[in-house]
Amino acid sequence: MKKVCVKGGGQKPLDMVLGQLALAAGKLKLDRNIHEKLKHPQRTLIVAVPVRMDDGRLEVYTGYRVQHSMERGPCKGGIRFHPQVDLDEITALAMLMTYKCAVVGIPYGGAKGGVVCDPSKMSVYEIERMTRRFASEIAIIIGPDKDIPAPDVNTNPRVMGWIMDTFSMSVGHSVMGVVTGKPLALGGSSGRLEATARGTFYVTERMCAHVGIRLAEATVAIQGFGNVGSHAARIFHEHGATIVAVSDVYGGVHNPGGLDIPRLIEYSQGHGTVRGFSGGKAITNRQLLETRCDILVPAALEGQITEENAPRLKARFVVEAANAPTTPAGDCILKERNILVVPDILANAGGVTVSYFEWVQGLQAYFWTEEEVNERLRRIMTQAFDDVVAVMDTHRVDMRLGAMMLGVGRVAEAAALRGLWP
Ligand code: GLU
Repeated sequence: MKKVCVKGGGQKPLDMVLGQLALAAGKLKLDRNIHEKLKHPQRTLIVAVPVRMDDGRLEVYTGYRVQHSMERGPCKGGIRFHPQVDLDEITALAMLMTYKCAVVGIPYGGAKGGVVCDPSKMSVYEIERMTRRFASEIAIIIGPDKDIPAPDVNTNPRVMGWIMDTFSMSVGHSVMGVVTGKPLALGGSSGRLEATARGTFYVTERMCAHVGIRLAEATVAIQGFGNVGSHAARIFHEHGATIVAVSDVYGGVHNPGGLDIPRLIEYSQGHGTVRGFSGGKAITNRQLLETRCDILVPAALEGQITEENAPRLKARFVVEAANAPTTPAGDCILKERNILVVPDILANAGGVTVSYFEWVQGLQAYFWTEEEVNERLRRIMTQAFDDVVAVMDTHRVDMRLGAMMLGVGRVAEAAALRGLWP
């Protein structure tokens, strides 16, 4: 088979992102000094998080907050609780946040945080104590105009509420703007919970118009049924798409005629998984990725589409609702197979976009309706898609490189204008 792609870095998330940066830098003929600066996170904080467990034992977890860049504004990015969290991953994801915010044109730099833990094995009280201690450890570098955390894998509005409260207690007054993705009663934004999925939907809608297919006639398979995957299933379904398969960590279900999504959502809320749902045939997570469909939406963790399974994918399009779900080698194969990949920093930017809306609404103490939020989100996502397509057309590059060039170019412009201190 003819090789149509160039090396994009190694398999570890950080190598992968640095590889993407190098490709974008090469195409943009980026100033060497700016490229050098962007290779390094500006600040990395590693903290020990001692937690009193329910049985009286003390457990010490490791937490990270990495701030990659604040060239375009305060740092922004989620916090995840997961056993696979490590510094390499969090640094890579912080870098992706920098370019993601730039692609959608919101005034932030990028950050990411995480705690190495398995929340499925912890009680809600243990998770609360861990969250609060982690929040107070990173409080020295976060704040509404410094770095604003948000939900990510295994964190949710409740966790954001605890972070807001912990930070507020330490300064003696309520600081709503220190996190986004908060519950509505604590200054959250309408539409934030489903914003990542809705943004993915708007981008997919635009992609369908661009390639000339009708989304209402398309079949969709979704990997992951957490906050992003379950809302994506509902929103795509509501707009007429046929969801043929979904999966979560425990397994999946497949029905080529289309799954009954409202019933499946109810089932998964009751059982804590989609596995065992009677409206389809049981499949594994691996099989999900190889399901025949028009649009495959990975909405779980990184490194899912690899050189091992990419040759067997039967989708025409991959829309990356997860961060970094495709390895560089997997990406090369998809490219050779002419499978269009809408990259993470575009496809899942709806979450951080509505986080930005939440922050703006909070600072003004003036809140918008859900319709206003969704309409503004649609405009930003559609514009970002069109901006990426313009870069692709001008430079004859694939969509991942186009998005990266757009993001890196915008960050580089800000960096050049600011200059180097001292
Ligand atoms: N964790 C989400 C992401 O990866 C959202 C980040 C945010 O809202 O700041 O984009």
